[in-house]
Amino acid sequence: MLIGGSWVDADERIDVIHPYDGERVGSVPMATEGQATEAVDAAAAAFDASTLSAYERYELLSTAAREVEERADEIARILTSEQGKPLPDARGEVDRAVQTLDLSAEQAKRMFGEYVPMDAQRGFAKDHCFTQREPLGVVAAITPFNFPLNLMVHKVGPALAAGNSVVGKPASNTPLTAVALFECLEAAADAIDASVPDGLINLVTGSGSTVGDVFLEHDAVEAISFTGSTPVGKYLAANSGMTEVTLELGGNDPTIVWSDTDIEQAAAQVVGGACSNAGQVCNSVERVLVPEDIEDEVVAALVDAAESLTVGDPFEAGTEVSSMVDDDQFETVVDLFESTVDAGATVECGGRYGGDLGPRTFEPTVLSGVTPEMPAAREETFGPLVPVITVEDFDDAIREANNTNYGLEAGLFTQDIDRAKRAADEIDAGGVNINTVSGFRADHMPYGGFKDSGVGKEGIKYAVEHFSRAKLVGFHQGFNA
Ligand code: NAP
Repeated sequence: MLIGGSWVDADERIDVIHPYDGERVGSVPMATEGQATEAVDAAAAAFDASTLSAYERYELLSTAAREVEERADEIARILTSEQGKPLPDARGEVDRAVQTLDLSAEQAKRMFGEYVPMDAQRGFAKDHCFTQREPLGVVAAITPFNFPLNLMVHKVGPALAAGNSVVGKPASNTPLTAVALFECLEAAADAIDASVPDGLINLVTGSGSTVGDVFLEHDAVEAISFTGSTPVGKYLAANSGMTEVTLELGGNDPTIVWSDTDIEQAAAQVVGGACSNAGQVCNSVERVLVPEDIEDEVVAALVDAAESLTVGDPFEAGTEVSSMVDDDQFETVVDLFESTVDAGATVECGGRYGGDLGPRTFEPTVLSGVTPEMPAAREETFGPLVPVITVEDFDDAIREANNTNYGLEAGLFTQDIDRAKRAADEIDAGGVNINTVSGFRADHMPYGGFKDSGVGKEGIKYAVEHFSRAKLVGFHQGFNA
């Protein structure tokens, strides 16, 4: 753990396991409550001591991007070893993280306030007011297992860009990538000419509830940025008092495939969007909504696309779908699959799991005849299932898209501009993507769900708004004018 500028250990350690074969790939310290408190104390002291200008913060973050770039292949291997995504996908995540750091570096130079035309109100013609943006202080960043590098960068990058200090806390099953990232941040801090106070950048590993409670209770933590499951997000929201909280939570995202689209191409994207990272993506396609009259054609195209995916060892060339991150995740998917089949859904392809596929591996699986109340339609699956639900007409499609407590992202394939416009207006989700799947994300776009999918937005510029505050400065009529 990186606390106050030193790498420190703890009495207990957490083993990190390779999801595909269950081999131990490393271990990290299990922070005590005292160590998590020390990390926040160090961050608070460093925030007070820091004099980094916008340009110096730009240098820090862009140098960190170069450090990550230089270690890209090694970091991708660490990522695959602990998370289990195929190596080319891990390499893709590293490339995105480099860009997220570069975008954050640029954003450090764009901490704009605004001039307020005071004469808009009667009697204030002689007053001049503007806002200036200031950092908050200590930002705590808690991340999930599924994108252990880029999601940490999405918090640490904007937090540092805005002039805060940070304490990162990665998921306990995928902490090693975060350790590599913080080594890169530390190397960047040492490399730039400006003096970066020890403790500006801290990393603690260990139990989410222990570290999370320290973040909730420590007065110096001004913001908690959390990505993870909805129950933990709700716990943080309920206990955070006056602390700024950003919550990027779960989803049960719909993608509508309408009759006027190219069904084969749409189906290929849907399967990609449902099975990428073995379905462990917050905005993966969780429900495919299709009109009854094209159901057979869509299902056949989905089956072709799903059967073309290569399942196997994430380190082997050509593998496109590999293991779930751990036994819990795997068993959740198995339960949702079995109970949905028991409820009457038809397995159109796939449906095999475990055994010779690998202990935590589930084949890409297309299910037809799924109805809205079946478990795979109701819950966030977080596995490579493609449940197809039929709808009567477009009204029904919109109704069904909204038939969930979640509201992260949605997708619609159509050539009809009126349907596209209706979906954009009427689907209750943080993003509506026309002619692609719900799983679309670029790192600089505003990203964050409605309803149980969260509060606030990420996407560098938008995260910076959460990690900074506007102070009003007023100049008023002097005595000598
Ligand atoms: P999780 O179990 O909620 O864990 C996420 C993080 O929270 C981990 O670092 C975990 O630490 C920590 N944590 C656990 N209990 C905590 C507590 N009481 N207080 C504070 N922190 C606590 O989620 P996950 O299984 O890793 O990730 C999957 C979920 O994340 C899915 O629901 C997915 O949709 C969501 N997700 C959302 C987005 C988005 O942008 N909306 C992106 C990716 C994932 P430990 O590992 O030590 O328990």
